[in-house]
Amino acid sequence: MEIKEYNIKGNNWHKVRIFLLDNKIKDITCDCIWSLNNQHAWKEGKTLCFHIQLALRQLYLETRKKKRPKVEGFKTLPDWLRKKYLSEVDHCQRCASKENLEIHRIKRGNKGGLYTICSLKHPSNNVKILCGECHDLIHSNEPGMR
Ligand SMILES: [Zn+2]
Ligand SMILES: [Zn+2]
Ligand SMILES: [Zn+2]
Repeated sequence: MEIKEYNIKGNNWHKVRIFLLDNKIKDITCDCIWSLNNQHAWKEGKTLCFHIQLALRQLYLETRKKKRPKVEGFKTLPDWLRKKYLSEVDHCQRCASKENLEIHRIKRGNKGGLYTICSLKHPSNNVKILCGECHDLIHSNEPGMR
């Protein structure tokens, strides 16, 4: 297990640790109270403090150049990640519309597909930006799923 440590400044300095194994993120902790003082907040896919979000961004920037860890992702989409996706691609990747954009998972959520942390251009990315209409169309034979 490789552990990467980041000192992140919020109102105070906090220490975020990212645990990597076989080039995959296995766990993330932060010593702030929002992440329950180093409890493994990320693994359960629950709370993500601001510090963890910044540390993940930093890891992402660092690893862009070198061999990237295979970052897994989130079962539910954090708001900061939605913003990151939409800052990379500002239109529907099917019809180019800029209206009513939604985040679609290529491998579906019910099959274990995650909202990946990597760039939308990265081969292990599992996310596509679609407008509401194209999104409905893609799921039209999959009732109740988005
Ligand atoms: Zn924190
Ligand atoms: Zn579209
Ligand atoms: Zn979808």
